[in-house]
This record gives sequence, structure tokens and C-alpha cells, in this order.
Amino acid sequence: MTTKIKDINPYEMAVKQLEEVAKFINLKSSVLEYLKHPKRELIVSIPVRMDDGSVKVFTGYRVQHNFALGPTKGGFRYHPNVNLDEVRALAMWMTWKCAVMDLPYGGAKGGVAVDPNKLSLSELERLTRRYAFELIPIIGPEKDIPAPDVNTNPQTMAWFMDTYSMAVGYTSPGVVTGKPIEVGGSKGRVEATGKGVIFVLTELLSKLQKDIKNMRIAIQGFGNVGSNAALEAYRLGAKIVAVSDVSTALYDPNGLNIEELITFINTSPGKQLINYPHYSKITNKELMELDDIDVLIPAALEGVITEDNADYIKADIIIEGANGPTTPEAEKILLSKNKIVVPDILANAGGVTVSYFEWVQDLQSFFWEEEEVNKKLKKLITRAFEKVWTYANEHNVSLRLAAYAYAVSKVAKALELRGIFP
Ligand code: NAD
Repeated sequence: MTTKIKDINPYEMAVKQLEEVAKFINLKSSVLEYLKHPKRELIVSIPVRMDDGSVKVFTGYRVQHNFALGPTKGGFRYHPNVNLDEVRALAMWMTWKCAVMDLPYGGAKGGVAVDPNKLSLSELERLTRRYAFELIPIIGPEKDIPAPDVNTNPQTMAWFMDTYSMAVGYTSPGVVTGKPIEVGGSKGRVEATGKGVIFVLTELLSKLQKDIKNMRIAIQGFGNVGSNAALEAYRLGAKIVAVSDVSTALYDPNGLNIEELITFINTSPGKQLINYPHYSKITNKELMELDDIDVLIPAALEGVITEDNADYIKADIIIEGANGPTTPEAEKILLSKNKIVVPDILANAGGVTVSYFEWVQDLQSFFWEEEEVNKKLKKLITRAFEKVWTYANEHNVSLRLAAYAYAVSKVAKALELRGIFP
């Protein structure tokens, strides 16, 4: 099992990445100072009446990193390890992600420190509603628009939207994205992040003159991002030789049947891969270090590729489905071995891109067909990839540095034009 390495501070990691790019693009020190600090942070206590009548109090967070480019956008997660520095890092990465995709948003992120598996559905609903209610002063379709992340899903977003709507007195679908289609969600949103991961991979492979059909892929995490990326790649003819979740990793050198695995996960009571009766079981660590794969897709949590294991990764291509899976030290090791790392802010931007489409549709009350959503997603991802790839090659830098250089310069320019208030 494993992998989350506790002593990595994601916020320090995010600041380090920012400092590195600041040096490269000669960012003014005043702007660097500005961007290191989140614009707004809210910590709330969330008392929840449990089914047995007792009351438990959970801690919730929302961090808005920067809104130079527009209202802030970013998901919220339910996980026992959620803490302020993790949310700060994730919020900063959202700023760069929206900028690299040319979306009219700044970055934000939220979360509640809770193990949702220990809560009943009605406890989860009460937790979500109280969290949403506590955030009301700082969220709204023109202010900050949350979305799903680890352990939150369309149902969570429906409760969130309903709570906000009850408070303002009218239905406000644009306050949150990733909703079920019946209450203002967008077709294609659920699959968007995973699909985007594979759109990025196919763009990269076409530059390398390789075919996805010949690719052997391992994916860590089989939730929203991991399973949809696996399905997209599987349907395009790639061999997915290993997938994992928090319980175990499944491996078959001849390739896994991803459609069957997804059906199993959706219908089995435990919803965990450990209960799947076929395929060899390996550890998450072994999955990361498999020697018969071309592509590794970390799609679970941050800080899983570190200087401790980077040397053992054999895949030539690493596509960051998760946010922040590779530490800066680990990336140096990977790059020194000529591996290609496609950074999170580009690789998993499909989710926020279709969230943007959902928000636009909600504001206009005019909804698009799935074909149109996917076509527009592909267009925006291809445009962003092309831009980052060209920059990286022209300046002989990593794809991460290229993506950051574009994103940070764009935000810095907006800050300069707007000026510092007052
Ligand atoms: P999810 O809750 O749907 O799935 C998470 C998966 O990771 C599950 O399969 C879980 O069992 C597994 N996992 C958890 N801890 C693990 C561990 N220690 N080792 C191995 N596997 C572990 O979450 P998600 O929405 O798929 O998000 C995954 C990652 O992608 C996160 O970093 C998230 O921030 C990022 N992301 C998500 C979206 C989105 O639209 N959902 C968009 C962009 C980025």
C-alpha cells in the first residue's frame, strides 16, 4: 500500500517551483513575493450531528490563491491528511493551471480533514452542507467556484449547490461545477480529467512519433482521474498493465480489461481493487517501479515520486494525473535520466477546462452536446500542449518549467496591469 510521504510539505514544494521559474523568467521580486502568498484563507469548524446522536467537529479549509485573471476555481477534497499547507499548494497550482489553459480564472482549493469512508451517506450530506454554508461569504459564481476532487463527486456537488441556493434564495447552478447533469452539470465533466490526461499523452506521442497502441501503461489511483484515463487509453488500444488504489495494485503483463474493472468497482460493495478476484496483486511501490512499462500515470495523491524512489522508475514518460505527485528533487533525477515528465498543471487540466464549460453553460442556461464538449476540450488541451512543447524546445527546458514560465508570466502581466491596490 503506501506512498504518501508524510514529511513533504506541498506548499514548500509549490513555492520552490515558483521560485525556480521566477529566476528563469526574471520575475520582479515584488511580484514573486506577492504570488507566494495566498490572497485569502478561511478555516472553519464543521460540527456534524452523527447518526448515533453524538456531535463530531471537523476542520474545513478554503484557500484562494490569486484572482488576477478572474474568479477563483478549484476543487475540494475529503481526506484525513487535508491541512492548510496542502490546500495552499493545491490552490497555487490551480492558479497556474487555469493560466496555462488560458481560462479566465484564478486558483483556489478546499478540503475537509475527514475520512469519508467512516461516515454514512447522511452524515456526509450534513458535513457537505455545513461546509458549503460556512464558505458562503467567500464563494459564488462570480467569486469562487468549487468542484470535485479526491473523495468528492457529483452528489457532493449537488448538495453543495443546493445549500448555497437555499441560502441565497434562488437556484444558483454556477456556484459549483462537476454537478450531476440533472442539476446543471455538463455532459463529459465526469470523464474530462482522465480524458484530458490521455489527450496530452497522445499529443506527446505524436511529437515523439510513437503510437499509443504500442504503449504499456501503469496507473496509480483508480478513482475519477485514474479510471477514466485508463478507460480512454484502453479504448485507444494501449495496454494498461497495472492499476492501483489505496488497497492494492493489480498487474498483468498482457494487459488488464479496464471495462470489466470499472464495472467491478462501480458495483462491488467495498469499491476496492483488493476484492477483485483476478490478476496478480502487487504493491503500489512495485507498480511505480515496474520495468515493463513505457508510461507511468500517478493519479492518486501528491508527493509520491520523491528522491527516494525516482531512481527506480523505469517508465520513459510520466504524465501527472494527480496534482503535485513529483517533488522538485525527484524531477531533477528523472530529467537527468532523459525521462519526460508532463506536469500536472497541463496533464490534468481537462477537469477544470470542462468545469469552465459547465460554468459557461450554467450562466447562459444553454447546454451543449457531449460531442461539442469533447471537441472543445481537445482543442484547448492541444493548444496548451503545443504552446508548452514549443516553449520547452525553444528554451531547452523541461515541460514543467515551460508551462510555469507561461502561466506565471501571464498572471504577473495581469497583476502589473491591474496594479497593487490601493
Ligand atoms: P478519487 O477520490 O476519485 O480517487 C483517488 C484514487 O487514489 C482512489 O482510487 C484511491 O483509492 C487512490 N489512492 C488514495 N490514496 C492512495 C495511496 N496512498 N496509494 C495509492 N492509491 C491511493 O480522486 P480523483 O478525483 O481521481 O483525484 C486524484 C488526483 O487527481 C488528485 O491529486 C486530485 O487533486 C487530482 N485531480 C482531480 C481532478 C478531478 O477532476 N477529479 C482534476 C484535476 C486533478
